[in-house]
Amino acid sequence: METMQQMYGFEKGAVISAVDLIRGIGVYAGLEVLTVEGATGLYDTNYEGKAEAALQALKTNDFVYLHVEASDEAGHEGDVDLKIKTIEYLDKRAIKPIFETLQTWDEPVAIAVLPDHPTPCSIRTHTNEPIPFIIYKPGQTPDAVQRYDEYAAKEGYYGELKEDEFMREFLKD
Ligand SMILES: [Zn+2]
Repeated sequence: METMQQMYGFEKGAVISAVDLIRGIGVYAGLEVLTVEGATGLYDTNYEGKAEAALQALKTNDFVYLHVEASDEAGHEGDVDLKIKTIEYLDKRAIKPIFETLQTWDEPVAIAVLPDHPTPCSIRTHTNEPIPFIIYKPGQTPDAVQRYDEYAAKEGYYGELKEDEFMREFLKD
């Protein structure tokens, strides 16, 4: 397969994930695979360590893919309370520190937040429904969407993107 460098023109990228499948795809995609101590792929993963590793990697990489599996696993277990908790952990313990730290950097860094696919607790398996995403770029005026969910995101600036449109939008200046 083509690497992300060949597809999107950046020089250096890294992936952080506890999941072998994602790490393996990362190798083929031309990304450096980084390991974080205490990354389990479950609700007890080292959120802070992964966030810190992503921030460190951003100092020497053009692109960093930080993957957290916990909410997917909670979906497979059909455990709604656990899934909510994993999303809250992701929000507070990974996204928040990354976002806040990046505000202090001189170099602007774009952030995207999204799942790779839905795993509804009701059916405990993956679906191929469209997923909601956020693209944050410093200095860019936000659209009117105030919530992060499947319904609100559809009303957003980007609408529904297909195939590699998301990556091209995200990496565009
Ligand atoms: Zn899964």
